[in-house]
Amino acid sequence: MDLSRFPRRVYTEHPTPLEFAPRFSQALATTCPGGKGPRVWIKRDDMLGLFPGGNKTRKLEFLAADALEKGATTLVTCGAPQSNHCRITLAAAVKEGLRCRFVIEERVPGSYSSTASGNNFMFNLMGVEAITVVPGGSNMAEAMQKVADEVTAQGGKAYIIPGGGSNALGGLGYVACAQELQQQFYDMGVTIDRVVVGSGSSGTHGGLLAGFLGNHIDIPIVGIGVSRDPADQEPLVYKEAQAVADLLNVGLTIPRDKVVSVGGYWQPKYSIPNDMMVEAVQMLARSEGILLDPVYTGKIMAGLIGLARKGFFNPDENVMFLHTGGLPSLHAYEQVVLTGEH
Ligand SMILES: *Cc1c(COP(=O)(O)O)cnc(C)c1O
Repeated sequence: MDLSRFPRRVYTEHPTPLEFAPRFSQALATTCPGGKGPRVWIKRDDMLGLFPGGNKTRKLEFLAADALEKGATTLVTCGAPQSNHCRITLAAAVKEGLRCRFVIEERVPGSYSSTASGNNFMFNLMGVEAITVVPGGSNMAEAMQKVADEVTAQGGKAYIIPGGGSNALGGLGYVACAQELQQQFYDMGVTIDRVVVGSGSSGTHGGLLAGFLGNHIDIPIVGIGVSRDPADQEPLVYKEAQAVADLLNVGLTIPRDKVVSVGGYWQPKYSIPNDMMVEAVQMLARSEGILLDPVYTGKIMAGLIGLARKGFFNPDENVMFLHTGGLPSLHAYEQVVLTGEH
């Protein structure tokens, strides 16, 4: 798949590491049927640029480049109160000399505090221009258009980025990741049997799937839902993957059965802690010294752990966990993750 005809800004100098996690694999195996579990590898997309970067960095490489090409002065985007996507969009804006405004959706009533730590602290430190807070379930596209109209009225030119950066253009970031992985597997001589990714606004899962299929990488992908069970999540991912394939114009039709997600690990609600998340965060921190976040990667790793315990993976399988970042929100949940009380 040829990405070279799309404008792109580069925010990470090198491929992110792909690391074997032997102590974590061992700790997991002792809790699996017959004491055997998969060999777990971690793709360190928590080490992407726009520090501390995460999966949104890859999407922003294409989205910010498009905004610059269109002469934008201000990026407008949306997210939850501890949104990694908002933070990384702001970092990209700062780096490019653009301004940035957010619409924050209070999916949990009363959860936005202008003095909160974590990502919110960084919003202020990096100089967000304006934050509009709206109630959960609001029409985010409309709310962002309103902000964009204000920018226009003030003589600027807004560029609206949808939640999570998950449109076809943002999804190209994970086509690029698929190509990076293909080279990395070859260079390292590693055979990965299955990939586990988070599945939220779906640009990561959908983009990676389009990238794997389009580049003939025959490795099944399992998405772990962070806010929806499969009946609601899979259609979103399917649509995103096809939109990415269509943008690339390579005649690729996404087979519906390649879109696989798993539910049951995100409850009781998006961003609200559960015991499985706490166990996953503690287990990886204490076996490998690698930190996960409570909103996304903690629940995604809980999904990998849960599937391993159900015997979903073969014991000799090499499973790659995509670490999508999110570290700053950990600081807004320190006591929960340390004590398990929530
Ligand atoms: C946004 C995000 C995800 C989910 O990715 P989508 O592309 O929205 O599906 C996973 N992990 C982290 C840390 C995120 O910030």
